[in-house]
Amino acid sequence: MAQDDSFKKIVSHCKEYGFIYQSSEIYDGLSAVYDYGPYGSLLKNNLKEYWWKSMVQMHDNIVGIDAAIFMHPKTWKASGHVDAFNDPLIDNKDSKKRYRADVLVEDYMAKIEGKIEKEITKAKKRFGESFDEEMYRQTNPRVVANLEKYNAAKDRLAKAMTDNDMADLKAMIEEYDIADPDTGSRNWTDVRQFNLMFSTQLGNIAGEEGKLYLRPETAQGIFVNFLNVQKTTRQKIPFGIAQIGKAFRNEIVARQFIFRMREFEQMEMQYFIQPGSQKEWYDYWKKTRMKWHEALGTPGDSLRYHDHDNLAHYADAAVDIEFKFPFGFKELEGIHSRTDFDLGAHQELSGKKLQYFDPASKESYVPYVVETSIGCDRMFLAAMTNALVEEEVEGTGNTREVLKLHPALAPIKCAVLPLKRNDDKLTGKAQEVFNSLKASFNCQYDDVGSIGKLYRRQDAIGTPFCVTIDFETLDDNTVTLRDRDSLTQERVPIEKLEGIIRERVDMANLLKQL
Ligand code: ATP
Repeated sequence: MAQDDSFKKIVSHCKEYGFIYQSSEIYDGLSAVYDYGPYGSLLKNNLKEYWWKSMVQMHDNIVGIDAAIFMHPKTWKASGHVDAFNDPLIDNKDSKKRYRADVLVEDYMAKIEGKIEKEITKAKKRFGESFDEEMYRQTNPRVVANLEKYNAAKDRLAKAMTDNDMADLKAMIEEYDIADPDTGSRNWTDVRQFNLMFSTQLGNIAGEEGKLYLRPETAQGIFVNFLNVQKTTRQKIPFGIAQIGKAFRNEIVARQFIFRMREFEQMEMQYFIQPGSQKEWYDYWKKTRMKWHEALGTPGDSLRYHDHDNLAHYADAAVDIEFKFPFGFKELEGIHSRTDFDLGAHQELSGKKLQYFDPASKESYVPYVVETSIGCDRMFLAAMTNALVEEEVEGTGNTREVLKLHPALAPIKCAVLPLKRNDDKLTGKAQEVFNSLKASFNCQYDDVGSIGKLYRRQDAIGTPFCVTIDFETLDDNTVTLRDRDSLTQERVPIEKLEGIIRERVDMANLLKQL
């Protein structure tokens, strides 16, 4: 399936089956803001539970908090967000469309990368077994020329971003002949910086004094609580604080569904460490977080590391875990070695010591921090991208749409379906089975349609098990248990259902792999 088509398919599937709706749809929607529907909110909660347990439950030195969205405005001065949380913005004068200048250059680079990969795939086919990819990359004139072009653009972009050189960003767009992706126009304005924080006003204080920001990241709520948490939980360094919560960014371009939203949710963990040990912990969290993704069954070639070329103002090392979304490899999660930047800045601006007393060395110091930060909504999109499959049902000539989510993530674990809806005995028995399972799992009773249709619907929302109640059930208390993925149907006694389902859908199955 073409990339565009598979993306459209995911978006329409999310809407049709009650996963995600456009916010305020009856008023034609609010751009880049989305609401999670009944199945979407269940799936999102399961993703959050997996992340939370992998941090807080699986580590005796990581604790969780739930800080407020509003924070003292000085927080954002200290963190650098007031002065430096900007994106370079450019407008097309003809189409009146607005873009991020750095993203336009990145898209140009991705096109060159695409050309290189195409060339290599063709050569692989041509030379077969004897193909030496490394040698080809170094010697094929077209590949070499494109690689040079790519690297030159990459270095220049990194420099322009680090130096805040908006004029050079504009020059790049002109020199690379970059056109408006929608209209092809090259009539651009200058590039200017745009601060991404949303602001609002405290009711009882007028002017700048009362200006509040909606937090653009959850991390700062952790930093300002560092000593509260350390003292009240008696943690010793190294230890971590985890948090899941909403964040808000006034994104310039927000066109990729829940990939880039103006209101979204982050799952962040700050790991407080001794200065000097940051390399060791950075490597540890890089590996640990990759394992978390792999445990879900995400194919290895859909995930990759991408080291940052231009480091944020707070970081001494940073890497993204990128996922192959339908529109290409993009950031899913960031792992950042943030040094003592944040705690140091808060200490300075607040005048309050944010130091840790090391009982062993009897020294006090401002800890360093390694952070892992993943967007819950991007993770949702990644899970949908992996899971949504259209496949032929063997031997029938029919196709089915099935959401092959890991059973621990599936919104509904088990559907209870009577073979016929107008038979009171069957529906009564089905209700009885549903009632016996509902305290253990999210189950669904459904009798609206033929059994084939009911199966298709459960496949589409990713339900790992369907239990069918038929006439035999009335005689011997056995049911047909249908497996979503293998489509096998086995006869099992009702009293064994709970155990069989639990074994497959238990979140511990994921956590034990970490
Ligand atoms: P990008 O470069 O894509 O804008 P970022 O580097 O600004 O992302 P971070 O500040 O590192 O992102 O935020 C951590 C995580 O939060 C990201 O890896 C991503 O999963 C998520 N995230 C950031 N911005 C958004 C957004 N606008 N919508 C949804 N998720 C987001």
